[in-house]
Amino acid sequence: MSQRSIKGFTLVTIVYWVLLSYMIAALLWWFIALEKQNQEITRVRLSELKHDDPTFYDQALQIEKASKRKTTQYIGEGSTFLALILLGAVFVFRATRRQLKLAQQQQNFLMAVTHELKTPIAVTRLNLETLQKRKLEEEKQQKLITNTLQEANRLNMLCNNMLLAAQLDAGAFNGTRQELNITDLVLGCIDDFRNRFPQRAIEEPADDAVYVEGDPLLLQMLVNNLLENAMKYSPREAVITVALGLQGKQVLLQVMDQGAGIPDAEKKKIFGKFYRVGNENTRTTKGTGLGLYLCKRIVRSHKGNISVTDNQPQGSTFAVLLPTV
Ligand code: ADP
Repeated sequence: MSQRSIKGFTLVTIVYWVLLSYMIAALLWWFIALEKQNQEITRVRLSELKHDDPTFYDQALQIEKASKRKTTQYIGEGSTFLALILLGAVFVFRATRRQLKLAQQQQNFLMAVTHELKTPIAVTRLNLETLQKRKLEEEKQQKLITNTLQEANRLNMLCNNMLLAAQLDAGAFNGTRQELNITDLVLGCIDDFRNRFPQRAIEEPADDAVYVEGDPLLLQMLVNNLLENAMKYSPREAVITVALGLQGKQVLLQVMDQGAGIPDAEKKKIFGKFYRVGNENTRTTKGTGLGLYLCKRIVRSHKGNISVTDNQPQGSTFAVLLPTV
């Protein structure tokens, strides 16, 4: 958290607790004051009774009863009030915490995006300038071009992710629905990654055709995001395995890596918008926290399900279930 948001958070917390304590203390004070008044009235009314009156005991009993009724009324009303205050307090507390968390994640996202946009642009410029100014050997030239292409691809993916997230949030995106061979689509994505990262080993699924109904662009983004994460969050020499097959009436796509894995407490959170494990100052991997959020939205729009479990002996397995046609 930045220094400013910590200050803001502390101030909001202090104001919240002071107000809540004040309200409860005021309620208690009113209860005590009313109860005291009630007892005083009872005492005065009892003292006004005449001892030699034959109805003395009856009247005294009535006064005592009235006093008890008042006490019960105060307790009842006070408790309802207290319950309402506490309910409201819990509601405000949770809403504020959610807002602060989202604001924090948005700030992280902005920092990450600025970094993510600037790096590829800087690298591309430097590479092109080098190519323009110096006569390089063929091999070095190719290396620079490959590197530039990789950065352009990364920029492209980032822009696609951001645009899609904005469109989905605005409800302005309705993907097409067509019957498509998901095996071909997955193999195509893997080929693309192999070209971009020839040093990475990817085990691909068998090419038995499996069909789903969906939007090819969205499903491509889903597979690309999962592959990209598997690469980013596992060491260079570790193998990435992609499996695809039928499971009952559903298609099961799995992307498995041998990275550090994801702690159980984070497994649900990582699908949240802008959510990234760790904090922006200590993180070393590049990213925006949008990838898995989009994956979840894409899978849901295809009436499917996405989940993550531990891979054996280490790493993560992302599993996507989609209805088959
Ligand atoms: P980004 O990768 O841009 O940070 P994502 O939404 O794709 O955003 O992922 C959210 C977080 O989930 C990542 O920051 C990372 O900490 C974690 N994560 C995603 N995929 C993996 C993986 N295969 N292995 C380990 N951690 C992962």
